[in-house]
Amino acid sequence: MKYNCLFIGAHPDDLEIGTGGTIAKLRQAGHSVRLLIMTDDADPGAAKQRRVEAVAAASALGLTASDVSFLGLPDGRLRCDPESVGKVRDVVAQFNPDLVFTHSSADDHQDHRATHEISQGAVRKCPRLYYAVVNHLVTSSFSPKVFVDVQAQWPSKLAALDAHTTQANRINRENIERHCRGFVRTCGIGLAEAFEFDLPIAAEAGSTVLSSINDSPFHKLWSSLIATGPLYLIFSIPVSRAVREFSWPSHADMDGIALFRKTVDLQWPEGRSIIEECRCDTPVAEEAIKCGNVLLSGGPISNPMTRTYFNYFEGVRYVNDHTMPDFRNVSILDRKTGNRIKAAYVADANGTKTIERDIGNLTIMKNPCNPAHTLVAVMGIHGPGTVGCYKVLTQPTLISQLLQICEMPFRGRGFQILLNYDVYKGEPSLIPESLHVID
Ligand SMILES: [Zn+2]
Repeated sequence: MKYNCLFIGAHPDDLEIGTGGTIAKLRQAGHSVRLLIMTDDADPGAAKQRRVEAVAAASALGLTASDVSFLGLPDGRLRCDPESVGKVRDVVAQFNPDLVFTHSSADDHQDHRATHEISQGAVRKCPRLYYAVVNHLVTSSFSPKVFVDVQAQWPSKLAALDAHTTQANRINRENIERHCRGFVRTCGIGLAEAFEFDLPIAAEAGSTVLSSINDSPFHKLWSSLIATGPLYLIFSIPVSRAVREFSWPSHADMDGIALFRKTVDLQWPEGRSIIEECRCDTPVAEEAIKCGNVLLSGGPISNPMTRTYFNYFEGVRYVNDHTMPDFRNVSILDRKTGNRIKAAYVADANGTKTIERDIGNLTIMKNPCNPAHTLVAVMGIHGPGTVGCYKVLTQPTLISQLLQICEMPFRGRGFQILLNYDVYKGEPSLIPESLHVID
């Protein structure tokens, strides 16, 4: 699909600073790109020069002069009023954008904030993405959720910045680069342009367009798994025991759920509305597993949905197993070989066992109860292994490793993979040779 992408900036150079890499990337991908610059300098000579620079910058990003429009409103005195909104609305009506990029409101320049408001007033039918102009950014208020990988477009972006020769002293390339490198911990992308986002009610269909430009590995993985929401997170209830056998808290897997929620908050454009959380021992959980997208959390001891459903799914090779009636000697049973895979423990002087290494059992498959939906199951022999599975499903480098081992979209009905979880380091490592394709 080819999209019409409209980029709105208050001044010449704002677009190159905030979203130059994305402009070049979308153009290279064959999308139709239009730049709209709201204001002109009050001095006619300067205004003319800056328009020339804007066109030269656009050309460095792969555009031509006809892709750049100027509204000629007054620099420094831009206001959101019927005139300015009307002018942008005319451009929107003519270009019919599928995506609109404009200034973030987390900005201390009044023209930038006015452009943000004007764009909101003028664009109602498609997703709006908000970029940061570093020298005016109010960092504490900027909360991007869409990340575009612009490593390949970085030289074009720099060339576009260079084209603004009259602004050479004002454009701080170091700050721009530091800003774009700053999202690596969130999304794992070395140089990213990051965008806040909102979706007007008339534009809900636009979320697919948005997914196609979002390079966040977390978003890519999960949007391929849950094309249609919501995701029912069926969480386990720890069993209470008279005598504790392990020093690790029995609700450790809640740490994994917390990590998942946090990652959704930071990287899922629509936010946590995608998740419906339900306790494993409720009718809602049973309904969900029968018909929806499910994230099944925890093994058969603490999660009755794992015990009654998952452990009986056809084609599943690894299941968590235990002795009855005391729910002890927990292990992962490999149904293919009959082997039991165990965690590694150390005991202190009182005989209390601590887990050194747990095993996580990660399953991603079509929901056997309703193959139109996906079932993801995360379970350790103990809680830490479950946390390890959540890390694999949320952290960018681990997601990349998972995708290298397992084909996505997955073949057949899905797959299972085991991981070692070093409890002291808090690090999971996938075990490639354990990969089981569920045909
Ligand atoms: Zn500006």
